[in-house]
Parts: sequence; C-alpha cells; structure tokens
Amino acid sequence: MLSTEPIKAQARALGFDLCGVCAAQEPPHWSAYRDWLDRGRDASMDYLRRHLDAKRDPRSLLPSCQSIIAVGLNYNQPNPISANRPRIARYALGRDYHKVIRGKLKRLGEWLGQEHANVEQRICVDSAPLMERDFALLAGLGWYGKNTMLINSQRGSWFLLGFLLTNLSIDSDTPAIGNCGKCRACIDACPTGAIVHEDGRWQVDARRCISYLTIEHRGEIEGGLQARMGGWTFGCDICQEVCPFNRPRPSQPLRAVQTQEKDFLAVREWPGLQQLRVIEQQDWDRLTQGSPVRRAGIEGLRRNASVNLVDENA
Ligand code: SF4
Ligand code: SF4
Repeated sequence: MLSTEPIKAQARALGFDLCGVCAAQEPPHWSAYRDWLDRGRDASMDYLRRHLDAKRDPRSLLPSCQSIIAVGLNYNQPNPISANRPRIARYALGRDYHKVIRGKLKRLGEWLGQEHANVEQRICVDSAPLMERDFALLAGLGWYGKNTMLINSQRGSWFLLGFLLTNLSIDSDTPAIGNCGKCRACIDACPTGAIVHEDGRWQVDARRCISYLTIEHRGEIEGGLQARMGGWTFGCDICQEVCPFNRPRPSQPLRAVQTQEKDFLAVREWPGLQQLRVIEQQDWDRLTQGSPVRRAGIEGLRRNASVNLVDENA
C-alpha cells in the first residue's frame, strides 16, 4: 500500500489546495441520489439520469481502479455587485475550471507514471459518471452542508473538485466529519426556497435553484421565480456567501482566503445587462471564449439579462 504523503506533496506543488485519497467503492449516497432523481429534482437535466449503474461503481470508468485521488482548487475572489451589471458566480469569472483542473491532474498523473510502473489512470473533472462529492467526502476533503455543497471545516466551500482514478493501491484518508449544527443561514437566504428538507436530509430542488435556471434551463423562466433572480445572470453564490464556514475567522487562517490560481481570476469586462440582452453572436463568441459561461448559450444569457434588468427610472 502506497503512502499518500508524496502524492499530496506533488498535488500541493501543482497548486491544489486540497488532496485526499479513498478506496474505489460504492458511493455512500448513491441511493439518495436515485431518490432525488425519482422526485424530479433534477428538472430538465436528463444527462444526470444516464449511466446510473456506472455511477454506482467507479470501476465502470477504470476497471482496474483501486484508489481515487481527490483534489480541490480554491476559486474564491471578490465579486462586487453593481446595478444592471451581470452577476456571475465566482467559479465562472475566469477560465473554464474543467481545463484548469484537468491540466494539473494530467501533470499529477504523469508524475505518478514516472514514480511507479504500469500505472493505469483516468482523470474525471465533472465530465464522467462519478459521484464526485461522495468520493471527495470519503477522501476527507469535506462534508455535506445543508446547501449540499461540500464544506471543508478549515477552508469552507469555495473549491472545485477533480479526481484521478488509478490502479495503484494507496492508503486511504479518513472520511470528513462535520455538520452545520443549528445554522440555517443558507436556507433562509436562498431567494427561491430551493433548499428543502425531505427524506431526512437537505436537498436542492434544481427546479427552483437560480444556478440551474440561469445555466441549464432552456426557455422561459417562470414568472414567480423571475422576480427573485436578484441580478444573477450565470449561477448563484448566495448559499455560499452567507455560510459561516466561508467567513474569515482569526482561528481559521485558511478560511475565505483568495485563490492563488491565476486562471480563475476575473479577466472579462462584462457588458451591462442592457447590452447583454441583445448581444450579437460574434460578440458572444469573443466574450465567452474559454469561459464556463458559454454553457448557458447565447439565448440563455440574453434571457437572463432581460429577466434581471431593473428599470432605473421606476
Ligand atoms: S445557488 Fe442560489 S438559488 Fe440555488 S440553492 Fe443556493 S442560494 Fe438557492
Ligand atoms: S449556511 Fe449554515 S446551514 Fe448552510 S451550509 Fe453553511 S453552515 Fe450549513
């Protein structure tokens, strides 16, 4: 069994803020995930229903998989609000995280391949049927908050995940333990009441979540929800912004620190909502090059801009 320490040192050297390892196994919340789907809480995200059996076993992605290396990369940065400017979730302010994390994991994999013979591996960054948060939990990176985000007790929740599945047998970390206690700040702050308690656990109902509505949803946004968008034009960070685990605290020096990853920093000057509402294709292509915002599509972003326009003369 290999030690995790050299792997963690290499992950740190590549810029990852978090790294842990767990054994390949059935993810602990697979049944809960199925229930969430059965209740239709995935809204129109049919792709989440595909490969359900594969999600139950990481060996469906790499038959020789023995261990899963989980990494986390901090993306926290200031995100000031200004009237009639688009509010973009922090993770989407810079370069597409899939590419950034994949690039670093590729280098981690190359290093593993140099250190050990006959290494088989597969990188997963939000693109394969893998219950990512479950494996991050098992690898000790964080525990589920009531907002369903993974929370690291020292760092909070402003981090993105990536995974390297490998045939190497590596020592496992202890699964993360923690809970929100009596806090319900995110539930009270969510403008659309998307965080619900059902079947003995907290869940996000995508049908009401601004993040889903502004990114994945196609067509019109239901009138009652439109009025509660609060300027969010791509994603929504409210349930993380209000979380006490994301607030600076003298006894927790890593909490709420800014990202060191240059690729995540805001690089675009977004046009105002008025211009975004009618953005032309070529301007859209130029503006969203290499940005996660492209996922919403030009029609989606035009719609979001319209919905959020406030009549300043009213
Ligand atoms: S992302 Fe926004 S809308 Fe979705 S659950 Fe969190 S606060 Fe609510
Ligand atoms: S805001 Fe409070 S209830 Fe919500 S995830 Fe953070 S600690 Fe948990």
